[in-house]
Amino acid sequence: MTDGFRAVYGTAPDGVWEAPGRVNLIGEHTDYNDGLVMPLALPQTCRVEAARRDDGVLRLHSSDAHGGVIELHVDVLSPATPGTGGDRGGWAAYPAGVVWALRAAGLQVGGADLHFESSVPTGAGLSSSAALEVATAVALNGLYGLGLERHRIAGLCTRAENDFAGVPCGVMDQMASACCTAGHALYLDTRDLARRQVPLDLAAQGLRLLVVDTRVKHALGDGAYAERRSGCERAAARLGVPSLREVPYGELPSALRRLEDEALRPLVRHVVTENERVERTIRLLDAGETHSVGPVLTEGHASLRDDFRVSCSELDLVVEASNASGALGARMTGGGFGGSAIVLVRAETAESVAKAVTEAFASAGHREPRVFETVPGPGARRVTEA
Ligand code: ADP
Ligand code: MG
Repeated sequence: MTDGFRAVYGTAPDGVWEAPGRVNLIGEHTDYNDGLVMPLALPQTCRVEAARRDDGVLRLHSSDAHGGVIELHVDVLSPATPGTGGDRGGWAAYPAGVVWALRAAGLQVGGADLHFESSVPTGAGLSSSAALEVATAVALNGLYGLGLERHRIAGLCTRAENDFAGVPCGVMDQMASACCTAGHALYLDTRDLARRQVPLDLAAQGLRLLVVDTRVKHALGDGAYAERRSGCERAAARLGVPSLREVPYGELPSALRRLEDEALRPLVRHVVTENERVERTIRLLDAGETHSVGPVLTEGHASLRDDFRVSCSELDLVVEASNASGALGARMTGGGFGGSAIVLVRAETAESVAKAVTEAFASAGHREPRVFETVPGPGARRVTEA
């Protein structure tokens, strides 16, 4: 269990923690609009073996990254200082950013030796970055006895990713990794972080959830994310509301009429209808009609493809091929422009749907996708004392 740490640092760690990746069932591109989301944690996690150091030195090592041990000093961590991990160059910006965010919040955090090993695919839209951050934060929370609540950990990790690593993500991924529980989807209102654990026992209802990692990541994704985000902020300002969350579904037609800039209308339409789809999904899950969530997923995909325009041909193909071969519904999950899609299927068709997607990719000349079944796993946790 602790071989990795010992091989790197020559001693035993003080403890082992892990934090999961996530898929988002529904509620995409709503988290930076104060909207509704419903992620679930994956069984795949980022595991960290960690030891406290009292000399202020922070050493970082990942079995998934090249370049060996990165050594920093907590006193000089700064988003603007090259060589402190905050120069947007490499993976260390995520864990170093967490240490910076904790200290910037006035928490008494010193140095540490950290060794990471992750089973979350990176860059696949499954939030390996949030898993890395939250694993770091729960380890430091334990090592330094900070007593931080989970939603606070998520907030500090989001700050690390936004302000230190320079990625303008919303709060969903970190909240999912920190706050999800096994067997549940997390219904989260990002406006006030109100949340509810919603039972999602797919097997009991004869259902399966497939994740399809397209293994593509189109380069335009990062710029497009920031552009969509600022478009939503402009639209809210023109409508005279603090965020698009404040546009009720029933008032969508009049809001669209009031927006003179035609380019902003589809963005508003996506966000407002997506919040409504989350509410509809909750009602279906509460009523035990999980199979009826399928068409809501597919509807959400169409909105992301046509209105928000963050899909790509590979993601569209997953949805088309799944639905054509008997899936209940499917959609892209995560930011888009590649990454992963989710597919809701009846148990007896899981295999044939997965096969149909793989064959469709082969026919289209795409690289073979990675298809796996998932169930809602637990959120971040301590694994062992040492
Ligand atoms: P996603 O979060 O969807 O996987 P991102 O682009 O947000 O995609 O984050 C991926 C980046 O996070 C990687 O390029 C790497 O810098 C960092 N990362 C994630 N997990 C690890 C890990 N276990 N070891 C080192 N770096 C990691
Ligand atoms: Mg990420």
